[in-house]
Amino acid sequence: MSEQMQNIPIAKPWIGESEAAAAGRAIMSGWVTQGPEVAAFEQEFATYVGAKHACAVSNCTTALHLALLTVGVEPGDEVITVSHSYIATANSIRYCGAIPIFVDVEPHTYNINPTLIEAAISDRTRAILVVHQMGMPCDLKAILAVARRYNLPVIEDAACAIGSEILWDGQWEKIGKPHGDIACFSFHPRKVITTGDGGMLTTNNLEWDKQFRLWRQHGMSVPDTVRHGAKQVIVESYPMLGYNYRMTDIQAAVGREQLKRLPEIVERRRYLQERYHEQLSDVPGLKLPTEPNWAKSNWQSYCVRLPDGCDQLPVMQAMLDAGISTRRGIMCAHREEAYQIEAWSCGSDRLLESEGATDRAIILPLFHQMTEAEQDRAIAVLKTATQV
Ligand SMILES: *Cc1c(COP(=O)(O)O)cnc(C)c1O
Repeated sequence: MSEQMQNIPIAKPWIGESEAAAAGRAIMSGWVTQGPEVAAFEQEFATYVGAKHACAVSNCTTALHLALLTVGVEPGDEVITVSHSYIATANSIRYCGAIPIFVDVEPHTYNINPTLIEAAISDRTRAILVVHQMGMPCDLKAILAVARRYNLPVIEDAACAIGSEILWDGQWEKIGKPHGDIACFSFHPRKVITTGDGGMLTTNNLEWDKQFRLWRQHGMSVPDTVRHGAKQVIVESYPMLGYNYRMTDIQAAVGREQLKRLPEIVERRRYLQERYHEQLSDVPGLKLPTEPNWAKSNWQSYCVRLPDGCDQLPVMQAMLDAGISTRRGIMCAHREEAYQIEAWSCGSDRLLESEGATDRAIILPLFHQMTEAEQDRAIAVLKTATQV
């Protein structure tokens, strides 16, 4: 590798002066947590995705926890989901004392296979938690058809999917409207927009939105924003056990700036995805991700499945030697030691596509500031490394 060649990271947040200035304003205002900036961010976020309500929390994992509690998931209940996801998805189910029931994924979208859901439903099933993996919308039409028949709520893990769209009754709509019952987003730096850490719940159910707001602040009956503006002394009460899942005003101020950048970010990512697709489609045996005609991904990650006989680690090493970062395919929770107690419920013979995706796929660099020249380098090295 020549000295002037820069290493290409797997991802990089697009964040700068305007976010720094916004964080500075929040700090100088003197109100630094769950105040006016959080309220404004929630409003702007709800407008962007087209939801009636948006509630900001500390991260997407806490958002998922509150979503599951809100739809009534209790200890001993079962929640249908995927193993092939970041472990936070399954962990949020365990936080409720419930049991994740893992369903396999489809090979070309890396999303839950809707035809396998019905067989996983039991008397103890309480909810379905689906993932828009790497930003690709999952097949919500098919998922909701099963869920509604069994009267099960659908929670969308949209951690990666801000800015993704789905064709719904002839119209393109943003993920998070939500099309299920509640959608949960992440603002971790590995996602498409970031607040450092942060999360958001969206729903059209006012009662649920009120419930999120109680739980995110220890079940406290009076929010700080109300008590602060009150002319009379208000004493709060704590009618239920809650949590501290607050977002700070510093984070929210940054998030508002990131939202302004989002359309440009999604456009750029879609453009870079098209270039990958065009230039990699002639690599023998390489399986590229496919976008169904009813979906528009934000391409939070670009994941390719390697040709048979081409091992994952040597390809990743060859790319790293050339200064190009990659990651292996998305993990499978059921293989982790923390999940061995649940192993009975997910018989790994039923998760072949999930395991294949972890073991045989790699994630290529894709970020807003990535240049065409950098992408060409990644493509060239991948082509050499996958020649078997
Ligand atoms: C990142 C991620 C999460 C967790 O988000 P945090 O904000 O880090 O808690 C959950 N689910 C999926 C699919 C993710 O990619």
